[in-house]
Amino acid sequence: MSFSPNNQQLSSGSLPKGFLSPDNGGNEGGAKTLELVGAALQLGFSACGIARADKVDEKNAQAFRDWIHTGKNASMQYMENYEEKRLDPRLLLPQAQSIIVVALNYFPKERLADHQLQFAYYAYGKDYHDVMKDKLQQLASLIEGEHKICCDTVPMLDRYWAYQAGLGWIGKNTNLIIPHAGSFFFLGEIITTASFDTYDSPMPNHCGTCENCLHACPTGALSINGLDANRCLSYLTIENRNAIPQAEAQAMGNYIYGCDRCQLTCPHNRFAQATEIDEFSPSEEFLNMTPDDWKNLSEEDYRRLFKGSAVKRAKYAGLKRNIDSALQQ
Ligand code: SF4
Ligand code: SF4
Repeated sequence: MSFSPNNQQLSSGSLPKGFLSPDNGGNEGGAKTLELVGAALQLGFSACGIARADKVDEKNAQAFRDWIHTGKNASMQYMENYEEKRLDPRLLLPQAQSIIVVALNYFPKERLADHQLQFAYYAYGKDYHDVMKDKLQQLASLIEGEHKICCDTVPMLDRYWAYQAGLGWIGKNTNLIIPHAGSFFFLGEIITTASFDTYDSPMPNHCGTCENCLHACPTGALSINGLDANRCLSYLTIENRNAIPQAEAQAMGNYIYGCDRCQLTCPHNRFAQATEIDEFSPSEEFLNMTPDDWKNLSEEDYRRLFKGSAVKRAKYAGLKRNIDSALQQ
């Protein structure tokens, strides 16, 4: 089925079962919008919303600039590039009218046992970039006009746009939290010249007085003012190419790639459901790794175990550094 933004076929009654309703701020989804959301769900996305392509609002733009200027991005210098485009997606696609935002569930069906060395859930399966890109291309092919597919490869503030598109709110752990679903989702966007009959609106923040994530963070990287990547184990064990500082290494516990503590403690993740995307399932070999297996991991083992996986981002030397740091504590 293909459709154009002028096609008016679906009503809310035609939405497929299992639809995770993005809060649309009280808007009744119009036919064109609902048809797009239905198609997104058929492709395996858990949520889909649409925001108007506009500049990032000044409050969030300033918060981003402050984050960069105070060095909270650590060595991730690519975050400093293309600031103008990052803060105005219309510079990424001339004539852009809309930003379609989707969420893809990666909460794993099977997980490493507590006594094993741990990986952040997002790294359990195959590289999400390929899965996300393929699905976004299929979704974009249903829409008339010009598009730009965004999946970490384009300077975009993706959580901001997910929030603008009514998918959820940005929690104190800096993740997007989808009501009744949690935060274990990859986000992707399509910037398009197509316009829609209705747009979604941001929803209120439901963190309330909860501060679980701030207390669960073992390094103090999270505060009410946001995330300091310099102290975050996700950054230090993946993007960082240097030694892990002693204080943070001591806080690793049994995590050797990334860290999910500020998500696992979030009460909204009690709603997390196992993903149905086969590519995100861990292999038996991965699930059965013992601390000794990790300690003796050869480069050949690493290549076999992480073929087609995003773990390659840390490189063999980076993963070995993490394993050694965690096992020394
Ligand atoms: S990922 Fe871990 S280290 Fe980073 S902010 Fe969350 S709890 Fe803290
Ligand atoms: S743990 Fe609590 S404060 Fe942190 S993101 Fe979840 S609801 Fe918000």
